[in-house]
Amino acid sequence: MQSSYNFWLVTISFAVATLASYTALDLTGRIFLLASARLRRVWRLGGAASLGCGIWSMHFIAMLAFSLPIPLGYDLATTAASLGLAIGASYLALCVTTRERLTVGRLLAGGVLMGLGIAGMHYTGMAALQMAPGIRYRPGWFAGSLAIAIGASTAALWMARALSNDDARHVVRKRVAAALVMGVAISGMHYAGMAAADFLPGAICGAAQGVNATWLATSVILLTFAVLIVTLMLSRFDARNALLTGAVSRLNGQIVRLATLDTLTGLPNRSTLTERIERAILGARRQRTLFAILFMDLDGFKTINDSLGHSAGDQVLTAFAQRLLQCVRETDTVARLGGDEFVVLAENLGSREHAGALAEGVLERMRVGVSIDSQPLQVMPSIGIALYPHDGDTVEALLKHADAAMYEAKRAGRSTYRFFERRMNEAATRTLQIQNALHDALAAGHFSLHFQPKFEGSGNSLAGAEALIRLHHPQLGTLTPLEFIPIAERSGQIVQIGYWVVRETCRQIRQWVSQGLPSMKVAINLSPRQLLQPNLVASMLEIVNAEGVACEQIMFEITETVAMQDAPKTIEMIREFQASGFEIAIDDFGTGYSSLAYLQRFRVKQLKIDRFFTNGLDAHGPEGSAIVSAIIALAHSLEMDVVAEGVETESQLHMLKTMRCDEMQGFLLGKPLNADDFGNLLRDRMVAA
Ligand code: C2E
Ligand code: MG
Ligand code: MG
Repeated sequence: MQSSYNFWLVTISFAVATLASYTALDLTGRIFLLASARLRRVWRLGGAASLGCGIWSMHFIAMLAFSLPIPLGYDLATTAASLGLAIGASYLALCVTTRERLTVGRLLAGGVLMGLGIAGMHYTGMAALQMAPGIRYRPGWFAGSLAIAIGASTAALWMARALSNDDARHVVRKRVAAALVMGVAISGMHYAGMAAADFLPGAICGAAQGVNATWLATSVILLTFAVLIVTLMLSRFDARNALLTGAVSRLNGQIVRLATLDTLTGLPNRSTLTERIERAILGARRQRTLFAILFMDLDGFKTINDSLGHSAGDQVLTAFAQRLLQCVRETDTVARLGGDEFVVLAENLGSREHAGALAEGVLERMRVGVSIDSQPLQVMPSIGIALYPHDGDTVEALLKHADAAMYEAKRAGRSTYRFFERRMNEAATRTLQIQNALHDALAAGHFSLHFQPKFEGSGNSLAGAEALIRLHHPQLGTLTPLEFIPIAERSGQIVQIGYWVVRETCRQIRQWVSQGLPSMKVAINLSPRQLLQPNLVASMLEIVNAEGVACEQIMFEITETVAMQDAPKTIEMIREFQASGFEIAIDDFGTGYSSLAYLQRFRVKQLKIDRFFTNGLDAHGPEGSAIVSAIIALAHSLEMDVVAEGVETESQLHMLKTMRCDEMQGFLLGKPLNADDFGNLLRDRMVAA
């Protein structure tokens, strides 16, 4: 029997298939996002109903597009059964694509079942025609339609899954393309199925008295579009809601994490640590047990941060945190307080020695260096230990005392640990007081300079002076640089203080000159932190120029230990200073471990022998003088002048003279004087001359 198709209805059937596919893809993305299992189930059921309707009406509209030269109709019950099959197959499809894990096996099984479902729907729908004699199917086309149904379903399931991420790029565009492909496949299956059908000549349609075809076509088309579009809109709306809910709950998690954990290392932060210590105190009080707070801070971390950059600094902190976690028991808390400060809370300790062993373990572990930016680094902590209940019974007291013990460990030469002792409290309090005193010392004008004269080797004529800073505090009295410079160094305030020293020195030099006094070379001390300033030389030059003093009037002193820390960089810095006309001296020589090769390459003007060696001239007899004369000979061979620091006795002076020391500095010859007294000294010298 000759059949024909209505072109418009075929087009609409394809549009319905595509829209149904798009809805399915969108729903998959949607259901995937839902956190609640109950909601997922509801959406799967609702989605399956709408998707099933879509697929079924595609088939049904296509059936209506089909006509035979005899009147056609559809049996209602069989048609309803075919709709049921479409919905069932859709439910199956949504179950497969919205599972947490989709294996290849599950995908294939889903594809086969869904394909069979759709084919079942199609052929059941055909049966609703109730043809007599029955339709004969051509085996080739029939098998082809099954293959298309299964292949298209599998591909559809895979695509739905792959495009389930709502946040992916161009997801709408990709879903439209995928929906078109699926639309073609579903329609392809249908029309292959139709091509398989052979309507025998003389056959009649047993359901021809059923429902009116045109009326049916219009209502099915309208209803299907309405169902699909409403589903799609609901899905979109709900997706946005879910996305928002998801975002809010993610944000909530982040806020909680921010409030309790340190962002860089992921370790508990100060507030979490405080809580845990509070809990530890309650527990230890009840069970009469002992716990320890290990307070640690990385030695020289500021130098690493300043010289290698913050990202290297962050890597060092993260690596340290990781390794610290490996040193402690699982029940211990490792927290980061900020900066390079870490705390370990070790509960249920058997004895004080256990805490010591823990600290030793940490030091041992850290001795194995790390590699940061392919640069080997050894980052050691100094550790202070406070024990509950002996060293305090509040969080504040325990942390403060562990911190004080940590400072003591630093003073004891770093990379070691100390238990808290009562006397450390005073030192810690003093440090705190000095920190506060430094805070506004510059603005309040609490600093002053003293000048200590330096003499020629003969011990008679003035060779220059060294500027030495003092801090006068209304409550604390006058502080020596040995006390406050290390603290200013830690806080970074030393940089501004250093600039002040240069400015003040220049001002003083100008004042002496304006009083008709002889001009004199003044040495200024530089500390490590200053040397790390990238524009140090330029800044110094600017200050000296602004004050109208010649650079040749100023000499900068760098201690040997600092100069050797990064010798190549020191050489660069020295050259830069020298190019501007400043002279350089190596201070406190003998206390560090100089490499002679570098000492030669420094090519500085002066070498200042540390007070310890000058003192050794008396205290260590021939051995002491052998060392000093060797240093002098070495310096001379490298064309450097030698200055002996801390000359306190006539015998030292005498020996240094015979060793041909170039300059002397010390209490015997002249103590550090304030600017006015130093001016008087200059005046007396002039008169004497
Ligand atoms: P330094 O540069 O080695 O300065 C010499 C120190 O030895 C001074 O101590 C001086 O008062 C002291 N001294 C001099 N002659 C004798 C002596 O015969 N016997 C004894 N026992 N001591 C003597 P001061 O002023 O306390 O300075 C200590 C250190 O502080 C200085 O050592 C220097 O490294 C640092 N410093 C001083 N002023 C500044 C400054 O303006 N900036 C920086 N960055 N550091 C400074
Ligand atoms: Mg000095
Ligand atoms: Mg010195």
